[in-house]
Amino acid sequence: MNSLELAGVGMTSQRTRERLISRLTEQGISNQQVLDVIRNTPRHIFLDEALSHKAYEDTALPIGFSQTLSQPYIVAKMTEILLSAGPLKKVLEIGTGSGYQATILAQLVTEIYTVERIEPLLIKAKEKFRKLRLTNINANLSDGSFGWEKESPYNGIITTAAPQSLPMGLVEQLAPDGILVIPLGGDGSQELTVVRRMGNSLKFDQEVIEKVNFVPLLSGLSRQYL
Ligand code: SAH
Repeated sequence: MNSLELAGVGMTSQRTRERLISRLTEQGISNQQVLDVIRNTPRHIFLDEALSHKAYEDTALPIGFSQTLSQPYIVAKMTEILLSAGPLKKVLEIGTGSGYQATILAQLVTEIYTVERIEPLLIKAKEKFRKLRLTNINANLSDGSFGWEKESPYNGIITTAAPQSLPMGLVEQLAPDGILVIPLGGDGSQELTVVRRMGNSLKFDQEVIEKVNFVPLLSGLSRQYL
């Protein structure tokens, strides 16, 4: 990817990105590190060219296979909540999708582990990580309903697809004082939920943040290209 492609022009220019940052600030995102990383990350390269002019609008956008790249506000909000647990070493993301959320996180924590169940999405996302020279992202094709046990425990886990109820497998992969940020519930009535492990204990604190709208967490793998 050449530097012009990364910098963006016209509707993907720095000025357009600045407007998005103002909007996120107005909506209550206050972590300056999160805002800086969003400002400097080219969201347009995670989208098809036909949609890149919308990349810095605060909306969710399609990435194929009936999946979506989350709205920047939601990416910012989930990232901000995750970082509230303090500096994070190992973070697991369920639902790599376009790779945008993982790219944001990779610039804020030490090591990212991310899993995706749709192979063609994972392949494209990995290509982006390579082009952006992000070497701290480990991406794997698997059903994330069970986390990524081999690499656990994680200081933070973020799920970008919604299960009906809390997957205990994920909770069990939290390190002491670890934090899980996850949308919970069925179609149309999900709640962004935060689960915090209390120290080294097996006690967990659960807090609902706000109503959200994510694609559902599905089981099994998909290798289909259509
Ligand atoms: N974080 C992504 C958002 C993608 S949408 C981004 O920044 O673009 C959610 C993703 O979760 C989809 O790509 C979907 O295929 C994936 N997903 C759904 N159920 C899954 C599961 N059980 N395991 C892994 N990925 C899953």
